[in-house]
Amino acid sequence: MRPTIDASPLVHALPRIQPVAIETSGALGASGALGASGALGASAGSVGSVAPVASDATTIEATRAPGSPSVLFVDQSGQLGGAEFALLQLAGHCAASSEVVLLSDGPFRTRLEALGARVQVINDARVSGIARQASGWNCLRVLPGMIRQIRAIAARAREFDVLFLNTQKALVLGVLGKPLHRKPVIWYQHDILTRNHFGRVQLSVVKWLVRFAVDQVVVNSQASARSLAALTGIAADSVPVIYNGIDAAAFSHVEGAEGAEGAGGADIGALRRRLGLPADAWLAGLFGRLAPWKGQHVALDAIARLPEAHLVLVGAPLFGEDAYAQRLREQATALGIADRVHFVGFQDDVPAWMSAMEVILHTSTEPEPFGRVIVEGMAAARPVIAAAAGGVTEIVQHGQNGWLVEPGDVGALADAIGTLRADPVLAQRLARQARDDARSAFSVEQYLEKMTQAIRQAAR
Ligand code: UDP
Repeated sequence: MRPTIDASPLVHALPRIQPVAIETSGALGASGALGASGALGASAGSVGSVAPVASDATTIEATRAPGSPSVLFVDQSGQLGGAEFALLQLAGHCAASSEVVLLSDGPFRTRLEALGARVQVINDARVSGIARQASGWNCLRVLPGMIRQIRAIAARAREFDVLFLNTQKALVLGVLGKPLHRKPVIWYQHDILTRNHFGRVQLSVVKWLVRFAVDQVVVNSQASARSLAALTGIAADSVPVIYNGIDAAAFSHVEGAEGAEGAGGADIGALRRRLGLPADAWLAGLFGRLAPWKGQHVALDAIARLPEAHLVLVGAPLFGEDAYAQRLREQATALGIADRVHFVGFQDDVPAWMSAMEVILHTSTEPEPFGRVIVEGMAAARPVIAAAAGGVTEIVQHGQNGWLVEPGDVGALADAIGTLRADPVLAQRLARQARDDARSAFSVEQYLEKMTQAIRQAAR
């Protein structure tokens, strides 16, 4: 989520948005507050010139399935955040008829290629480094790099039926090249678009691009749709909501966790030993990149009030939040709980790590646009305590399939953890319902079906 440049004059000449009806269904509950989230994809990059790597220039015509439109996906990040995991599934599914352009290199490329996706990295270090709160002047300074990227993306897009833009920087660069590529554009909006997280210039660019040049927007939650509506004036209920899909099977067949009984269960020792976790401790797990708005500091304060509980922080500072990661360690030491807090870094095998926990925490202090980690915890049949804002309230129903607390409320979080610890029967009931709801409302099959439908309609 990210770039900035006052490009509104450039978009006036571009064609107008075509509303497209996509069949969608609501998830489990209703609504949440408007807000913001997301991170800025500033990443390590190559030099300040467009630098394609991992290029395979062969046409995809030879491999595409008959009748399916070919797609060029664009994502700004080489790191693995929620938007990238969502694209990973889709690009893997469409590998025979698509290509992925990344605007930064990183582990995301490796994961895509492992699924058979064709990937190009079109990197410009200056554009990658632009801050989401950047001024118009700073944006002007990266203009030459942007123009090179716009042209490079457009050159690839000409080979495909549809251009699918997965992040905000991809949106800007992909749409501004539309006069060059003349392909229909889909934007998958993963953010709650407010000033809490995004600069005025950036929001203004997004607003005008969506109004005048994007053929179809799909959003990851009703909360994201409402923020789009507030920004652009487009009716929220006219924007298709396509929830992320979570592979429930991966979360229910964890090696070493066979027979694990979940919250309060006694049979997860072997799995914990494999992961290097204390076998007998009562573990609360918090998954996600280390970033202030993800609220890991709130979880530390809550755990400090619960002498029997340990906290496992799974995730790394992906977008330059190293100072925050350091502050968390200092906070744990200052609270006298360093021996009960386990910083384990970024982990690939999230299903195993979730299965090793008694409870999964979600502590974002800003409204979460969707929150894959919540559905993953549910799919792992673990009770989830989540911060009630944004898309979260479309997933979790308090006391039914999880537990909701006010964002940033340390006392409420500590009470909730204490409640589930003291009442394993309640915790198990929530976990069972959570697993069923994750399977029924957030399946990968539904996600892929709706996405491919959206792509087909855009191609028409
Ligand atoms: N994740 C991961 N390893 C980690 C921490 C997180 O693979 O160590 C994954 C997590 O399983 C989830 C994604 O990163 O699929 C985070 O997505 P979410 O929607 O929760 O947050 P976002 O990154 O979009 O803010």
